Amino acid sequence: MRAMTQELHIIGGGMAGSEAAWQAASAGVPVVIHEMRPKVGTFAHQTGNLAEMVCSNSFRSDDDEQNAVGLLHWEMRQAGGLLMEMADLHQVPAGGALAVDRDAFSQGVTERLRAHPLVRVEEGEITALPQDGHWIIATGPLTSTALGQAIQAETGAERLAFFDAIAPIVYADSIDLSKAWFQSRYDKGETEEERTAYLNCPMDRDQYEAFIDALMAADKTEFHEGETAGYFDGCLPIEVMAERGRETLRHGPMKPVGLTNPHQPDVKAHAVVQLRRDNKLGTLFNIVGFQTKMKYGAQTEVFKTIPGLENASFARLGGIHRNTFINSPSLLDDQMRLRSRPNIRFAGQVTGVEGYVESAAMGLLAARLAVAEMQGRTLPPVPDTTATGALMTHITGGADAKTFQPMNVNFGLFPPVEGLRGGRRGRKDRYKAYTDRAKVDWLAWLAA
Ligand SMILES: Cc1cc2nc3c(=O)[nH]c(=O)nc-3n(C[C@H](O)[C@H](O)[C@H](O)COP(=O)(O)OP(=O)(O)OC[C@H]3O[C@@H](n4cnc5c(N)ncnc54)[C@H](O)[C@@H]3O)c2cc1C
Repeated sequence: MRAMTQELHIIGGGMAGSEAAWQAASAGVPVVIHEMRPKVGTFAHQTGNLAEMVCSNSFRSDDDEQNAVGLLHWEMRQAGGLLMEMADLHQVPAGGALAVDRDAFSQGVTERLRAHPLVRVEEGEITALPQDGHWIIATGPLTSTALGQAIQAETGAERLAFFDAIAPIVYADSIDLSKAWFQSRYDKGETEEERTAYLNCPMDRDQYEAFIDALMAADKTEFHEGETAGYFDGCLPIEVMAERGRETLRHGPMKPVGLTNPHQPDVKAHAVVQLRRDNKLGTLFNIVGFQTKMKYGAQTEVFKTIPGLENASFARLGGIHRNTFINSPSLLDDQMRLRSRPNIRFAGQVTGVEGYVESAAMGLLAARLAVAEMQGRTLPPVPDTTATGALMTHITGGADAKTFQPMNVNFGLFPPVEGLRGGRRGRKDRYKAYTDRAKVDWLAWLAA
């Protein structure tokens, strides 16, 4: 496929693609949006509109002082984001959350983009990777099969996933270290860091049995029709494992072998829940092997019965979904370009971020980076102290490529602010310090 070099081509007119198009056109760059709907549909989209919300009508918290997603809203508003403008215009009452009238919202986005003199929408599926020109691939969790195969041919099969199997992620400072301890199974590892890479939460027999009962009784979410094909290999939800036999988890992710509890060296645990470091900063830990289809409320209730996690705060809860995403930490550079084909950027959920807002924010950023490159300008690095920058830094390198799974924005991705009180009590001040710092840094970056 050939393209005029002065145009920016965007594949996918969803959350990320629509915001990317707006940002580029607002900066004076002609844009072509290639959108397959309504000619080719997906199992979740219902219309031919751009920026269609496929499920909930919420952009989540709008609190830009105490909430990372609210901060992302703020950053997008400051950057003249179209999706935030339309969300504000078509807001419906939802307490502290930003919820919208979904049809009015996506129609509003569609009309504004179609009316822009620098935006052209070409309907139809793109099935191959573009050879030249400036491109952003923003085809989302339901990227069409043909394009998915083309991406896979370029990146290698193991670097493109069709499902996520997300284990819950816990803030490190909310784990009770008087019960949990750091140790890798059989103290494996060359360095001290590797030998202590896991946090272990021990259970006695009664706690284990009660945990299995709670898992089986918990509310679960159903799969969408057409969503499940081929997913069950290798990533069974824990509640399904528990249903297969009460001992299955004790012989699987919760096996108690190769570990000694320093708090009670003489007591052999009946089962052990392990958490593994989830980011370079060491602020987040995922519960190993705990992908689940339990409803969010049930997850927090059940996981807080794990010794050491009674007061856990979750950066994100677990899930399993149909979700096409690339292994961004190994494939993308810090400009969101595909290392092997730098004329192609990726944005949105296909990069391994999760959610409408995060996807739109990555579209906003990818477009700004592309525009700067096309106009021969060099932008300073996106500060990782901002919500947008923290998310981008995570997917392009902060996350471990080997265990990479999609991520929501959360304060665990931010470099800590020094000199502040940790734990629950210091949380309010800490979050305010993060968001204050982010706002200053984001405005400075936008002005650069
Ligand atoms: C069933 C389901 C439910 C979800 N529920 C929620 C929720 O409640 N809240 C939330 O925040 N997030 C939810 N998500 C995640 C949600 O999809 C993303 O947050 C968001 O839509 C991603 O934005 P995006 O721009 O990356 O992808 P999308 O918004 O999906 O946009 C991608 C676009 O690319 C088009 N496309 C795909 N392949 C091609 C191709 N080859 N050529 C041309 N066009 C193509 C698609 O038609 C689509 O319009 C859900 C996802 C799914 C699958």
